[in-house]
Amino acid sequence: MRLSIVVPVYNEEAIISHLVERMENLRPMFKERFGIIAEDIEILYVNDGSRDNSLPILQSMCYIIKGMRVINLSRNHGHQIAITAGIETARGDAVVVIDGDLQDPPETIPELYAKMLEGYDVVYAQRKKREGETFFKLWTAKLFYRTLKKLTNVDVPLDTGDFRIMSRRVVDVLNSMPEKHRFIRGMISWIGFNQTAYEYERHERFAGSTKYTLSKMLKFAVDGITSFSSIPLRIASYLGLFIAVTGFLYALYVIYLALFTHSTAVGWSSLMVVVLLLGGAQLLSLGLIGEYLARIHDESKQRPLFIIEDIYESPKNR
Ligand code: UDP
Ligand code: MG
Repeated sequence: MRLSIVVPVYNEEAIISHLVERMENLRPMFKERFGIIAEDIEILYVNDGSRDNSLPILQSMCYIIKGMRVINLSRNHGHQIAITAGIETARGDAVVVIDGDLQDPPETIPELYAKMLEGYDVVYAQRKKREGETFFKLWTAKLFYRTLKKLTNVDVPLDTGDFRIMSRRVVDVLNSMPEKHRFIRGMISWIGFNQTAYEYERHERFAGSTKYTLSKMLKFAVDGITSFSSIPLRIASYLGLFIAVTGFLYALYVIYLALFTHSTAVGWSSLMVVVLLLGGAQLLSLGLIGEYLARIHDESKQRPLFIIEDIYESPKNR
């Protein structure tokens, strides 16, 4: 197998037939440009517990299309885990990850492959332009990547998603990383080797709506930061130090008032402020520690990352 293409799919029934058609068009393109025959390319669709007709549509298509496989997860495991399941199942010498909503044009894949042949292990697609996204999405994404860059020492390239091609050795390292809270683009940067960018234009969703709800986005952001940085924990201790020092100075002032003046009785408001401030800082720090603790807890359970219910493929594959 020369090339595997991993496509996560979650409630995308409106797109699938078009998606599969666009993906299948890649086979002749690869034959012509790189001499890679259709049988050497597998296209893996990971059904991430869709509740619509995505699975039946994929199933019926994969019975007629050779080289198409459908991995059906037991429930919705989330985008990053769906990708992981696909990458672990992939058998190609090179593995591509691409979103199933056609925001990333499949026709870019041969370009990524060509770039990889120049001697790179990872070619990530970097967006020059993002069409049809809400102002809120663009702004939160920008804020997140800038914050991530400040807080972590792995260099996660700006304006990239998971659309990329990886060599077998990168895939093998990635598969050997068992962490549960996966922030794949960060993990791949962390792996290293020769990585480079390929610029492309990101389009609007072909149909349907985003599957990343606000809560999924938040979880994703917290996962990204906590898996690569313990700076938030340190912020908690700096905050503690700052408040302790301020408290100490204030205590000196209060003692001074008590000893040398007669104005000690007032002070309900300042007391309240101090109590609230301290309480807030403590809860915040506890919460932060809790976030990391919860992650240690999750890791210690050693559960499998995903559960594959079935894998469907054309009888002609075997
Ligand atoms: N996706 C998935 N599981 C999920 C959420 C999304 O497999 O829980 C898939 C989705 O079908 C799509 C890709 O991940 O192919 C990216 O999702 P989406 O386009 O909704 O995210 P956005 O582009 O809005 O960030
Ligand atoms: Mg999308």
